[in-house]
Amino acid sequence: MTGAPSPIQLQNVSFDYDTAPLLRDVSYTFAAHAVTAVLGRSGSGKSTMLELVNGMLRPKAGTVAVFGKPLDYAQVYALRSQIGYVVQSAALFPHMTVGRNISLSGVVQGQARDVLSARVRTLLAMAQLPEAYADKYPYELSGGEQQRVSVCRAMFLNPPILLMDEPFSALDYGTKQAIYAHFQAWQTAEPRTVILVTHDWEEAKQLADTFVWIDDGRIRSHGNKEELDRWKEEYQAHL
Ligand code: ADP
Ligand code: MG
Repeated sequence: MTGAPSPIQLQNVSFDYDTAPLLRDVSYTFAAHAVTAVLGRSGSGKSTMLELVNGMLRPKAGTVAVFGKPLDYAQVYALRSQIGYVVQSAALFPHMTVGRNISLSGVVQGQARDVLSARVRTLLAMAQLPEAYADKYPYELSGGEQQRVSVCRAMFLNPPILLMDEPFSALDYGTKQAIYAHFQAWQTAEPRTVILVTHDWEEAKQLADTFVWIDDGRIRSHGNKEELDRWKEEYQAHL
C-alpha cells in the first residue's frame, strides 16, 4: 500500500458541464493496490470523477495521470484493457451466456478458447459461483449473482485498475453482505488499485482502506478509517 507509485493521480483538476463548476481544482493521489472509497451525496460529482479517470471525460483544467503519465486522449481506448469498470446495473448482454459475457474482452483480443475458458473458471471460482453458470444466461441468475458476473467481466483482462460506480447500491442488505465478502476475497487474490464510488458510509467502511469525501466540487475530507469514523454523523446528516 505504501511505496508503490500511484497509478491514478488528479492534479488541479477542474470540470463542469458548461454550468456550475462540478470539480474545482481537485488534487488527489490514489494509493496503489488499495481500495479508495469516494463518498459524497448524489450529484456531488463522484461518477464524473471516474469518467475523468478513464478518459471518457476531459478536465477543463488540470491533469489526470494514469500509470504515471498524463492521459493521452488520442490513445484512450488502449487504456480500456488496463482499467476495469463496473456500474450499478450489471448491464450484461442478455443474449450471451454468462461465460461469454465475462470473456468478451478476451474474445475481442483474439485469445484462444482454452485461455478464455480457464480465466472464466478462475473468475467464477473467485466469485464463488458454480462453474456450470458459464453456460447459463443472465436472466437465470439473481440480481446479486448478475452483479458478481459483471465484476468478473471487469476483471477478465486482470486490469491493474478497477473503477466501481455504486456497484452494489441496487442490491438488498443480505446480498450486499455476501458480495462484500466476495469482493474482499477478490482483492486478496488479485490486488488492484480500486476506486469504489458509493454514497453509503457503511459500505465504504467495510470495503475500503482509504476514504475521500467530495462535496461542493472539492475534497472536503480524506483519510483512513479513523478519519472516516470522525465524519460519520456529519456525513450522514449531509446526504
Ligand atoms: P454523482 O455520481 O455524485 O451522483 P455525477 O457525477 O453523476 O454525480 O453528476 C454531478 C452533476 O453533474 C449532477 O448535477 C448531474 O446532473 C450533472 N451531470 C452529469 N452528467 C451530465 C451531463 N452529461 N450533462 C450535464 N450535466 C450532467
Ligand atoms: Mg453517480
